[in-house]
Amino acid sequence: MQKRSPRTPIFTNALKRLESALAHVDLSEDVRERLCHPKASLSVSIPIRMDDGGLKTFNGYRVRYDDSRGPAKGGIRYHPSVNADEVTSLAFWMTFKCAVVDLPFGGAKGGICVEPKSLSMLELERLSRGYIDAIVDFIGPDSDIPAPDVYTNPMIMGWMCDQYGIICRQKVPGVITGKPLALGGSRGRDSATGRGGYFVIRELETRLGIGPGSTVAVQGFGNAGFMAAQFLSESGYKVVAVSDSKGAIYKSDGLDIQSVWQFKQHERKLAAAYCSGSVCEVQEYDKISNSELLELGVDLLVPAALEEQITADNAPRIRAKAILELANGPTTPEADTILKSKGIAVIPDILANAGGVAVSYFEWVQNKSGYYWTDKEVDDKLKERICREADSVWNVSQELKTDLRTAAYVIALRRISETIEAKGTKEFYDGKN
Ligand code: NAD
Repeated sequence: MQKRSPRTPIFTNALKRLESALAHVDLSEDVRERLCHPKASLSVSIPIRMDDGGLKTFNGYRVRYDDSRGPAKGGIRYHPSVNADEVTSLAFWMTFKCAVVDLPFGGAKGGICVEPKSLSMLELERLSRGYIDAIVDFIGPDSDIPAPDVYTNPMIMGWMCDQYGIICRQKVPGVITGKPLALGGSRGRDSATGRGGYFVIRELETRLGIGPGSTVAVQGFGNAGFMAAQFLSESGYKVVAVSDSKGAIYKSDGLDIQSVWQFKQHERKLAAAYCSGSVCEVQEYDKISNSELLELGVDLLVPAALEEQITADNAPRIRAKAILELANGPTTPEADTILKSKGIAVIPDILANAGGVAVSYFEWVQNKSGYYWTDKEVDDKLKERICREADSVWNVSQELKTDLRTAAYVIALRRISETIEAKGTKEFYDGKN
């Protein structure tokens, strides 16, 4: 994981994206004022008894950026670079992501400044339960619903949900999503982000001039990247390159995604795919660098690893026809301008990776109703929602003659402002509206 400086440029970049959308939306001053400030921010210290008997204190955060459209929703990140500024930026982003796929949620985010790999499992559990002890009055199934993010997983969500229930003396599965299935998780949650990105591509492929047979390169062969690669290759796309933090592999007539994944699971790195082992068929791959992967002459490039991978430096050399942003914030605003001038369509993160939060919403609905859905029900509902919203983003971009990112922000802004304005604005109280 790349280290970022404590004051990240993410918030500045997120605001830049909003600015281009603002030119297309007649927003009241009230809405602008509301969206400039997070609704509530909490900083906590979490003292943990370590395995050696010593006491160590960790800093934790939770920010609810906007909850006009419903309870705020957003993940919890465990990373040494977590700070109040970063958490606020990510909560802002979640506000727009939930609105663009029309979920009845606002945006939130949380995190703990910690290197999780340095903790034992028991320390990790104490820290996760300690975080819930510290923020218990701030979250709730009808106010603010956490989920996993970087370096947090279903087991951690399970501990957190359990701790919330212990404090409240009742079972409240809807307080957190991304839980293990046995603790009220939803079917389809682990594949949801990759599947959502895949549905966006299938919905827009003809309009983007791609389709089955087109070539694909995936940066970041983790949960989201693997799932998208798998679904695309099953439907006839040719995934010619994938990478992880240790390197990239390339095969001009397409990789066998399942076998590469099995090798990676077995050997923990893609380099293992060079060997002829028993886990998959023997295959010949070329080894390339991560930067070469980004600059391949493929039809579709899928950044699915980290923020800020496509920048003003490498954007002039990007040759893909279209980019699907499965990672959060992989393209800088400067790179966006260059890609636009080259005619490369960028499907923005707030649409491309929204499948994850959409299935989190389904999990919350199932928890609240106590009635659980089949894999097919989850997939059908995800497909219907993602395809509908991808179509809207495309249509708005055509109407307004803008890029897809601006169109997605326009749609989200319209929805958020409609809700804020429904409670009255200055114009209403002045008798002008
Ligand atoms: P993950 O940890 O499962 O996978 C990340 C992959 O990226 C790993 O294989 C890692 O080795 C690789 N990687 C790291 N640095 C790299 C580099 N410099 N070059 C190439 N590969 C590199 O994480 P994930 O859950 O798949 O998330 C990936 C991205 O998608 C993140 O930006 C995350 O915020 C975003 N996202 C994920 C979800 C989800 O539900 N998983 C939802 C929304 C957004």
